Amino acid sequence: MIYELKKYGDPILREKSTEVEVIDEKIQEVLDNMVETMYETKGVGLAAPQIGLNKRMFVADWSGEGEALRKVINPVITPLTEELIDWEEGCLSVPGIYKKVERPKKVRIEYLNEKGENVVEELEGFPAIVVQHEFDHLDAILFVDRVSPMAKRMISKKLQALKKETLKNLTEE
Ligand SMILES: [Zn+2]
Repeated sequence: MIYELKKYGDPILREKSTEVEVIDEKIQEVLDNMVETMYETKGVGLAAPQIGLNKRMFVADWSGEGEALRKVINPVITPLTEELIDWEEGCLSVPGIYKKVERPKKVRIEYLNEKGENVVEELEGFPAIVVQHEFDHLDAILFVDRVSPMAKRMISKKLQALKKETLKNLTEE
C-alpha cells in the first residue's frame, strides 16, 4: 500500500513522535508499506510522521535498490566526530526544495529492527546524513530548519506557498 505523504505546513510534521511500545504485526505492516511508499516516490528515507503517524520509526535505503534497506524503531543517534559535512538535502514532505545542510560526518545509531532485535551501527558520509535527516522528523525538525540564514531567506517564499497549499488541501478534506 502506498501512503499519501504529509507535506510542509501540515501540523502533524511539527509534533514530536512517541516511542513504539510493542513491535507487533500492525507495526511491521506499516513499516512494509512505508518501504513500498519510499521506493515508489524514489526517496532514500521515510519517517512515520510523514505518513501521519507520530511514532519513533523510519525506513531508509541509501542504495536505493534494497541493498541498504533498514527498518528503524526507537533510534538513538550519537555523533562520533565533531567534523561536519555539507550535503544538499531534499525531503518528500518539502517537494521542490534542495539546500545544503551541515551535519556530523560520522554517527552511531542504535535501534530495534522490525524483529525487535537491538542493532548498533556506525555510519559515515551519506548514510549518516540520511539517518540524521529521518531522525529529525521524529523530533518534529525539518531540514529547512537547519539551512543557513541566507538559504532560509532564499526559500522562504517557496515555503510560504507550500504551507498555504497544504493548509488549503487540509481544510478541503
Ligand atoms: Zn524528510
